[in-house]
Amino acid sequence: MKSNFFKYLFTLALIYGLTSCENEKTDILDQNINQDINKNDETNLGNLFFGRKSSSDCHFEYEGPEGPAFWADLCGEDWKDCGGDKQSPIDIVTDDVNEDDNINNININYTTSTTTIVNNGHTLRFDYTSGSSASLNNINYDLLQFHFHTGSEHTVNGYRYPMEMHLVHRNPTTGLLAVVGIFFTEGAENEMLSQFMNNLPEHKDEYYISNDEYHIADILPGTMDFYTYTGSLTTPACSEIVTWYVVKQPIQASHTQLEQFKHIMHENFRPVQALNGRVVNAND
Ligand SMILES: [Zn+2]
Repeated sequence: MKSNFFKYLFTLALIYGLTSCENEKTDILDQNINQDINKNDETNLGNLFFGRKSSSDCHFEYEGPEGPAFWADLCGEDWKDCGGDKQSPIDIVTDDVNEDDNINNININYTTSTTTIVNNGHTLRFDYTSGSSASLNNINYDLLQFHFHTGSEHTVNGYRYPMEMHLVHRNPTTGLLAVVGIFFTEGAENEMLSQFMNNLPEHKDEYYISNDEYHIADILPGTMDFYTYTGSLTTPACSEIVTWYVVKQPIQASHTQLEQFKHIMHENFRPVQALNGRVVNAND
């Protein structure tokens, strides 16, 4: 009887010890990742530029009462830019595009990154190890992260591609952003994406981290000719601090890959916005 009692006590202590130990570990991991989770998020990049605090009480969706038509009114003054006149995405009407030989080609200086994939409830975001940059029309930007939208946010002559990837860059001096948009068509399996397919975090606030390295340049199309225009982030706070570079040549991913992204993110594209007199240029 006595020995049973001690066994019971010992088991209790063991369970308590294990549980508290595990909690501690998770908490530390969460604190670390939370700093990173918010740092590269679009909402935070907009807030950072305007010196605002992150408004964690504000929520948006892609449909319903918190859908795109209401974004401008969902967070007091903070998201009012969503009703601005230089918003993104847009429909690119190729007949109206102004070809400008003076616009420089995209000059990438990307290196490898370890793997950090975050599900922020709106997209799958891949945070990129610092040290990669691109020269876009002669201005230098650091690559911060890339993420995905199903279907594409930009449309071309009204056509919506099944997916669009956004490579988010920031100028370290001005804080202004340059986003390179890459369209996907359905076709061959995408080799770079295939190494991540088993590790995509399925639910909000889940993330996957590993030391496995990859090179973002491996996924880029052979020709990087682009459309460019001035616009905004396509999620709240919709800050109008973005020069867009939408690459003409799409890349491929398999039906299964596209379906898996859509299964996790659902339809997360903002409807196209009015041009309001803006001109879309092309480098070629
Ligand atoms: Zn995006």
